Amino acid sequence: MVNEPSDLPAPELRKAEWVRVVLDVPLPGPFDYKCDFPVETGMRVIVPFGRRKMIGMVVELPELPAYDPSLIKSVELVLTDIAPLPDHWLRFARFAADYYQRPLGEVVLPALPLSLRSVTAYQGKRSAGGPVARLDQRRAPVLKASAVSAVPELNAAQQLAVDLIIAAEGFKTFLLYGVTGSGKTEVYLHAAAQALARGKRVLMLVPEINLTPQFEQALRARLEPVAGIGGVAVLHSGLSDGERLRAWLRVQRGEARVVLGTRLAIFAPMQDVGLIVVDEEHDPSYKQQDGLRYSARDLAVWRGHDLGVPVVLGSATPSLESWVRAERGQYQRLSLPARARAVSLPTVRLVDTRRLKMDHGMSPHLLTAMRERLENKEQVLIFLNRRGYAPALHCASCGWVSQCPRCTTFTVLHRTTPGRHQLHCHHCGYQQRVPHACPDCGDQDLQPMGRGTQRIEEHLGELFPESRIARIDADSTRKKGSAQALFASVHAGEIDILVGTQMVAKGHDFANLGLVGVLNADAMLFSQDFRAPERLFAQLMQVAGRAGRHTGHGEVIVQTGYPEQPVYQALLKHDYSGFAKHSMQERESAMLPPFSHQALLSAEARDLNIAIAFLQSAKDTAMAIMEQQLSTEMITLYDPVPLRIVRVDNMCRAQLLIEATHRPAIQSLLRHWLAEINTLPESRKVRWQLEVDPLEI
Ligand code: ADP
Ligand code: ZN
Ligand code: ZN
Repeated sequence: MVNEPSDLPAPELRKAEWVRVVLDVPLPGPFDYKCDFPVETGMRVIVPFGRRKMIGMVVELPELPAYDPSLIKSVELVLTDIAPLPDHWLRFARFAADYYQRPLGEVVLPALPLSLRSVTAYQGKRSAGGPVARLDQRRAPVLKASAVSAVPELNAAQQLAVDLIIAAEGFKTFLLYGVTGSGKTEVYLHAAAQALARGKRVLMLVPEINLTPQFEQALRARLEPVAGIGGVAVLHSGLSDGERLRAWLRVQRGEARVVLGTRLAIFAPMQDVGLIVVDEEHDPSYKQQDGLRYSARDLAVWRGHDLGVPVVLGSATPSLESWVRAERGQYQRLSLPARARAVSLPTVRLVDTRRLKMDHGMSPHLLTAMRERLENKEQVLIFLNRRGYAPALHCASCGWVSQCPRCTTFTVLHRTTPGRHQLHCHHCGYQQRVPHACPDCGDQDLQPMGRGTQRIEEHLGELFPESRIARIDADSTRKKGSAQALFASVHAGEIDILVGTQMVAKGHDFANLGLVGVLNADAMLFSQDFRAPERLFAQLMQVAGRAGRHTGHGEVIVQTGYPEQPVYQALLKHDYSGFAKHSMQERESAMLPPFSHQALLSAEARDLNIAIAFLQSAKDTAMAIMEQQLSTEMITLYDPVPLRIVRVDNMCRAQLLIEATHRPAIQSLLRHWLAEINTLPESRKVRWQLEVDPLEI
């Protein structure tokens, strides 16, 4: 049965002479074409571009083309397999392009499923109708109804939060600040059900879907009775092209009334949105790290504002950006101060490792606590944010350390099969056999240096031979579905000890997990990035929040050589707001974000000097623009500096930081600056990019 797009307004097709089209090419654009067919903005067209044919999107119907009409080529085909993308969607894409300083085509086209933007899908006899027609010829999948799960009665804090969200008329941003296990999900679900009952649609963003099928199940079970069977669409980067196309079309045709997705779902062409939720709003994965380097959280707030609907940002450890806005009253704070189940927060213990004899990186305190929990048939989680067997291989006689030939980093020792090891570079993927002897001095006694998850897993196997141990990290979960299978066996009680990286920290509601041990957290403490303590605190709070969620009496043991550090002291007391206050004072006195705004110009070249020279010319250009604009006092331009890991895959990397107290000042500079950078002769010798609101510096 072909889906009738009957609830969509029929576009008023105009027979246009000229169309302005955006394409996914690294050129400013847009590009004008002649068009002899009826066409509207938001429609896709096939156009010639150079010697190629490409799919582009019509963004404007100009009266006259921007250049000589006799040079202008014609649109070959107007694609009508889907309804035109609506104006509000184009407006959103335009904002994102403007704000992040990218050509509009690099926003619009990558936001579409692959087959809707690849010409080949529309060429040839068989595919003349394109992928949408082929899909519609197939029978609609029969979706099974999910069982309705029990709805807990909201506690007073949850009820108040839901009431305030529901009462919001038009745009308003809420910061749902709730400790781990406080039942934020219930708040989202109630507010979402309410929006659906009013005939509206709901967009819900989460950092990660693959790892937390629990969340998707709960959402389906609870909202499908309201949204209709199949009314929940899921969008994330782990979908195949076909799955993504199907989900996207259900959103675009208005069949999906709830969209659950990762950051890319912010670009879903949803209609009639009544609520936007961003769960774990502090999570760095909301930031796209290549191409259009957007923050889905920030875009969610803009979109809520543009559509006039409430936005709920939820977290136990909000980003300082959001916290400051709540403090200033720009966001309304909703607090869930206690765990929803009648259980207390876990006890946190700091174990000072400086004076202790450690057993393979684990303190006697941790091992004793593990033994007790395991005897009590509770599960234990050992958290170590370092995958592999050991961070490096090293020669005790001469000090040689395994190093990547293409990068300025160590190669990491990995166990490939039992008893066999290899050296891997985590930056460029370089792999190498383990040398039999030290390449420098010939000594055969090479030793692993430090510990990764594999080595801890191995050692725990010796210490606790009766226990069932599982390791969850990027290496153990490469195969599709393997992470879900591992988590399922943890939930089913088939695992006693879980060893994992940050992958295990996210969102899991483990019923029987009593103890969390944190190894080597200090590694993140002394990073040069000013956000490192904030990120460490959020990660520790999140992983700590896995302990004792159902039973209470949870315990968290953090091993550290620096127990007096504010981040650990705050963790001890579960004191996010104290930590936030301390961090805000630090940031304010140094005029760092959120008290200023930043942009980062980075460059890479085979020769570091070339990258630096480019950045230096770019800096000079920016100074000249600022002098013209008379805005020198509001913007600080730092000197170009090499990155800490300067060489990756034989490319040397450097960056130039720009900081301003006012966002408009920086935006106005960037606009002029980009055009100038493109004309610098040095710009052709490097790969460069500009990032607005960088998360990592
Ligand atoms: P958060 O996302 O804030 O960490 P969750 O939403 O995962 O917390 O909720 C933690 C646990 O508390 C879940 O098992 C959930 O089912 C339960 N829960 C949530 N709200 C209530 C409530 N009002 N009464 C009883 N249990 C609740
Ligand atoms: Zn040696
Ligand atoms: Zn490398």
